[in-house]
Amino acid sequence: MKALVKNKPEPGAIYQEMPSPVPGDTDLLVKIKATALCKSDVDVVEWTTLVASSDLPLPLIMGHEFLGEVIDKGKLVKNFKIGDHVTGETHIPCGYCYPCRNGHSHICSNNMGVLGRNVHGSFAEYIRIPEVAAIKVDKGLPPAQGSLLEPLATALHALTKSNISGETVLVLGCGAIGLMAVELAKILGATKVFAVDIFQNKLDAALKFGADVVINGREHDLVEVVASGTHGIGVGTVIETTGNQQVINNAVNALRVAGTLVFVGMIDYPLTFNEFMHKVVYRELILTGIFGRRLYATWDLAQRILESGRLDLSHYVGAEIKLDEYEKGLEIFPTTLGRVVMYP
Ligand SMILES: [Zn+2]
Ligand SMILES: [Zn+2]
Repeated sequence: MKALVKNKPEPGAIYQEMPSPVPGDTDLLVKIKATALCKSDVDVVEWTTLVASSDLPLPLIMGHEFLGEVIDKGKLVKNFKIGDHVTGETHIPCGYCYPCRNGHSHICSNNMGVLGRNVHGSFAEYIRIPEVAAIKVDKGLPPAQGSLLEPLATALHALTKSNISGETVLVLGCGAIGLMAVELAKILGATKVFAVDIFQNKLDAALKFGADVVINGREHDLVEVVASGTHGIGVGTVIETTGNQQVINNAVNALRVAGTLVFVGMIDYPLTFNEFMHKVVYRELILTGIFGRRLYATWDLAQRILESGRLDLSHYVGAEIKLDEYEKGLEIFPTTLGRVVMYP
């Protein structure tokens, strides 16, 4: 089969022939119908310091956001049948380690499989996925939208790290996950959502998705805008997707006392907080991060929200291309509203 492969420990990727996967006893064999490009895939192509330090087994099929159809399965698979539509949890848990047995199996500590990182991913015609990591998807959901369930659940998991209902929220960065966080924050009951970006088209989109106040970080001081929009108190929660140290330090100043800062974006350097004692410790801020989504609570919540009709994933399909046009996908990734979806 044809696949987009990371084959060398240097920038680049290659579209080439790879062996088709064969399902083991507890695996599904899935024909990919649509697969989306994530910032973390771009990082793998660019070979960032963070990726270079991750010891990827090469050659490796990239990609982890997908929707596909089950075309074969192992003899011990219990809950899926041929023809089911599925997406995949990117993190494959062992089921036995301490985090797995204590409600954090999405951060399995026993050589966790990660699609597109140490297990062959979805930028291919077929993927093999263990039943434990397969998520059944309503057959009525178009494949492009189904491929966006994984980032939607990521945004949702970030919001569930804090109490959003009735709260004020600041979203830093309006890429696909940032925009999803804006819309989900309103669905979860946030009373006022601020969104920051440097691209006007992304700020316009944030307004469309329910942001109350948008801030162009190049033109306005987000701390001032947030202060004037919260009676000088600051926001209760910040969802950070930029990975930018200066933006993060501004956001610390935009948080109210005892507010929560949730890290989502990749940070490829030792992060420095200005005046850490005065700004963070003495103000009792809560700093936390996310890695993936809860198994399987976040997936269930994401699907319930979709079923409620309150969120339309088609709004996040920013571009649709063929998988062999991946170079174009990488080029348009930074400016595309929502995700670039690729078809094998
Ligand atoms: Zn992703
Ligand atoms: Zn485990």
